[in-house]
Amino acid sequence: MQTVDALDVFVVGAGASGLRLARILGQAGVSVAVCEGRDRVGGRLLSADPGVDLGATWFWQNENDVREVIHEFGIETFPQYASGNMMYQIPGSVQELDGNPLDQQAWRISGGTQKLAVALAESLPPGTVQLSTKVTELKFDQGNDKGVTVITDRGVYTAKHVVLALPPATALANISFSPQLPEDVMSIAMNTPVWMGAVTKVVAVYDSPFWRKHGLAGSAMSHVGPLREIHDVSDVEECFGALFGFSRERITEEAVTTQLAELFGPEAKTPRSVLIKDWSSSQFTSPPGVDQLNDYQLFGSHALRQPHFDGRLFFASTETAVDSPGHIQGAFSAAHRTAHLIIAQNN
Ligand SMILES: Cc1cc2nc3c(=O)[nH]c(=O)nc-3n(C[C@H](O)[C@H](O)[C@H](O)COP(=O)(O)OP(=O)(O)OC[C@H]3O[C@@H](n4cnc5c(N)ncnc54)[C@H](O)[C@@H]3O)c2cc1C
Repeated sequence: MQTVDALDVFVVGAGASGLRLARILGQAGVSVAVCEGRDRVGGRLLSADPGVDLGATWFWQNENDVREVIHEFGIETFPQYASGNMMYQIPGSVQELDGNPLDQQAWRISGGTQKLAVALAESLPPGTVQLSTKVTELKFDQGNDKGVTVITDRGVYTAKHVVLALPPATALANISFSPQLPEDVMSIAMNTPVWMGAVTKVVAVYDSPFWRKHGLAGSAMSHVGPLREIHDVSDVEECFGALFGFSRERITEEAVTTQLAELFGPEAKTPRSVLIKDWSSSQFTSPPGVDQLNDYQLFGSHALRQPHFDGRLFFASTETAVDSPGHIQGAFSAAHRTAHLIIAQNN
């Protein structure tokens, strides 16, 4: 097993929060490594061919940290398609409503939101991000050398600070702490919901957004399912059409295309492909029983915004933000908060 010399900061998780944090710390001259359990960066930012999102899709114009990253890396954006009418489904009936209140004012990133993570990762010095490396244990030594020992499945690291840039409940489920965190902090972390951690996202890809020709926005609300809320996520140039929906049910491709045909007509029955991503079964996003975590008042809790173990441990995922918690913006603002705390401690 490999042992790596002491770093200033060891970041667990190469999602939006961990990567943004590494970027800010690196620019401030702080040595940093990021370790990522998956074989890719982005976490809940996950884009797939032909440029559709299986994780986050939108940002909003008031989200300044997101806009800053977009601007910094010259990432192309475009407004969510919103013209036309939305569909409404109740048992035994499908209605076309006037207008589309579901899709106002959101923006998208050309090619998918994972571009944010890839751009941030590529801006870091080579070797900063280590993929396919899972953190299993954190040891906060009691002796004179008050650092942290990070045990991963591919080596052992020491650092002055460790940052958990992953959902707190997921961290508590998969990482052991020695000594244990205080009871109240553990309880809050274990009970903090994982934003979108219990949902399945489905994207049906078509040759073109054919529904637009019929005056439809590609959006729908359904009380029938399996998809409960549906939106148009076609390419901006209309190189392909795509509809996405959220569900909390076990889903089959057949059930999805049957519902889409009921809502948008027979052409919807034969997509080019159907992509299904169940986030609840992903160990790097969601702990077991994620659907039972529903106390959203724990988002941005004071206990998880404070350092622990004498300033050696920080929580920094989107769930710890007070500014747009749950959103990409929340992840970036949590990164900012954590960077400021660490930089202040080291000055
Ligand atoms: C289906 C879906 C739709 C969404 N839609 C939107 C939207 O439209 N707009 C919006 O703003 N937000 C949306 N979100 C939320 C947005 O994706 C998140 O707020 C944001 O990506 C969270 O970033 P993060 O860095 O805090 O956490 P994460 O992205 O979860 O990053 C945590 C990272 O830690 C890694 N990790 C976990 N455990 C370990 C371990 N033990 N060792 C090493 N690495 C580990 C994970 O693999 C992951 O890469 C959506 C999310 C989902 C799932």
